[in-house]
Amino acid sequence: MYDVIVVGAGHAGSEAASAAAILGSKVLLITMDMTKIAQMSCNPAMGGIAKGQIIREIDALGGFSGIVTDRSMIQFRMLNRSKGPAMWSPRAQCDRFIFSLEWRKVLESNKNIDFWQDSVNELIIKRKAIAGVRTRLGVEFFSKTVVLTNGTFENGIIHIGKTKLKGGRISESPSKGISSQLYDLGFEVGRMKTGTPARIDGRTINFNVLEEQKGDIEGGNFSFLAREKITTNKSCYITYTNKKVHDVLKEGFQDSPLYNGTIKGIGPRYCPSIEDKIVTFSERDKHQLFLEPEGENTIEYYINGFASSLPLKTQLKALRNISGLEKVNIFRPGYAIEYDYYPPTQLRYSLETRKIKNLFFAGQINGTTGYEEAGGQGLMAGINAHNRANNLEEFILNRDESYIGVLIDDLVSKGVDEPYRMFTSRAEYRILLRQDNCDERLTRKAHEIGLAKGNRYDLVNKKIREKEAIIKFLEDYSIEPQEINIFLEKNRESVIKQKVKLIDIAKRPQISLKELSDTVNSFKQLIESMSSNADDLTESIEIELKYSGYIEREKQIANKISRLGRIKIYKGLDYNKMTSISTEGRQKLISKKPETIGQASRIPGVSPSDISVLLVHIGR
Ligand SMILES: Cc1cc2nc3c(=O)[nH]c(=O)nc-3n(C[C@H](O)[C@H](O)[C@H](O)COP(=O)(O)OP(=O)(O)OC[C@H]3O[C@@H](n4cnc5c(N)ncnc54)[C@H](O)[C@@H]3O)c2cc1C
Repeated sequence: MYDVIVVGAGHAGSEAASAAAILGSKVLLITMDMTKIAQMSCNPAMGGIAKGQIIREIDALGGFSGIVTDRSMIQFRMLNRSKGPAMWSPRAQCDRFIFSLEWRKVLESNKNIDFWQDSVNELIIKRKAIAGVRTRLGVEFFSKTVVLTNGTFENGIIHIGKTKLKGGRISESPSKGISSQLYDLGFEVGRMKTGTPARIDGRTINFNVLEEQKGDIEGGNFSFLAREKITTNKSCYITYTNKKVHDVLKEGFQDSPLYNGTIKGIGPRYCPSIEDKIVTFSERDKHQLFLEPEGENTIEYYINGFASSLPLKTQLKALRNISGLEKVNIFRPGYAIEYDYYPPTQLRYSLETRKIKNLFFAGQINGTTGYEEAGGQGLMAGINAHNRANNLEEFILNRDESYIGVLIDDLVSKGVDEPYRMFTSRAEYRILLRQDNCDERLTRKAHEIGLAKGNRYDLVNKKIREKEAIIKFLEDYSIEPQEINIFLEKNRESVIKQKVKLIDIAKRPQISLKELSDTVNSFKQLIESMSSNADDLTESIEIELKYSGYIEREKQIANKISRLGRIKIYKGLDYNKMTSISTEGRQKLISKKPETIGQASRIPGVSPSDISVLLVHIGR
């Protein structure tokens, strides 16, 4: 008898099991293959635009995706540095094998987690509440709550040209039984697809003709616990498809499961296959490809941008027409996979299903795509499963405090009609939800529930205090022209004629706080006396100073919306009686059952005037 059973040790399941166990639940993690814990099914990389922010949020909350990424990192880059700080996004290439091993170590080091290698094929349900699971080996386990995180495995079918295999990933069995049981219980079950490129033999790549892409020289990291930046030296390489490659690929279309109607599931718009790309962007005669190392100690490379389910022969012939890959050998072919998902509008904001009490869903089965999106949901489902098992309140994050909040709110209130991937454009409060301040946004909250432990909490408090001290110094310190004018001239900035507060210099768009500290001795001494990482402090303060206008405006809007948005809609509210609500609005409100005014306002089809009617009604 467990508090929480987690089914599947992918990215969602690993975070879920870890969070629930840290909070004190007795957890059983059941997964098909214990050598594939947190396996990176597709590219060996974590983070990227908006996804990097999610990893840092998971870390700030006390999850492990960031720490494991740091431990397995072979290259770090901060993407979008040339854009505003809302867009800066950390990304890491990881050693796929070490990533999985490090996750296993994290989970095994937690005494509250038991493991069982097996496939769950039935849920045990009693009086509309989950009671446990039954496995393929016929073993029954009982628990107060269950978190399902089956990823791409439920009724998975793999396609390579005309070849069709049953599987959850290549060389792995599919999961069977759960979808049909859920369907019989009245759940909606849908079908999606995704794809992955071939992995190739690095010894057969001609690197001499390829463009090298190095990591950031200064390095970087994901976890707020890491004091030093990690510098690594593994490069990626860039090459391009060409007209000949496209012609070869087109030859295979007749045997393509995508184009001959075999694949019915909807694919990810933002990770299209190469065949999709040459059809959708037929005017382009080349597409960029990134060759990414699979690890530090392997010769295997991943071809980012070349996902394909075309016949193996076509894949190989096309690849050999690409510059640098003329003699390439394939280790594993690209393939597409179709799998079941459960439309997430069937969930509460805690990720518990509305139909079956104490049953939670997280990750790819909710119609998302990506390790980061899965990890974020897993963490939240793990927390909420623990809370439910212990009669504690739901733990929900709002849209103005995290990307994870945006993700879950979008899933539950809007649903998905294609694999959902996070983007900065999905968040209305981008400048608040930056990668540098996830700890300031979330760690105290996670500490309150017992997930972010002492050290993490102390570090963020120290960071906040030290930032305040630095800003106070900048506000108080008056700088003389002779102390700063040479520096200003060097930076092509207008010189000062009389004393000014240092903060006014720091706020100038072209002035770097780090360079300013190198110029003003007492400022440098103050930063060096701080225990937080000096670069992190100056980066974070610089963003807050230079973007203070935008940040304030977003905060005001968020406060206003959250004041109204938090108003709860009582259960059993009869929308049919509210005749002033539009017909579309009423249908959507009845089907989505929002729990707050905020959620109601984000449902497509519910207009601002519908919300006004609702507010008047609730006020009454
Ligand atoms: C071929 C392929 C291509 C992909 N391409 C992309 C891409 O381009 N971009 C992108 O962002 N993401 C891509 N992904 C998706 C990415 O891998 C997932 O988003 C992510 O891994 C989801 O995490 P998860 O934890 O939900 O599920 P998974 O990582 O799939 O983990 C599921 C886990 O559950 C276990 N499991 C399943 N069923 C059972 C059961 N019944 N009993 C016990 N254990 C079970 C499995 O063994 C596995 O360990 C791709 C995935 C695949 C397979």
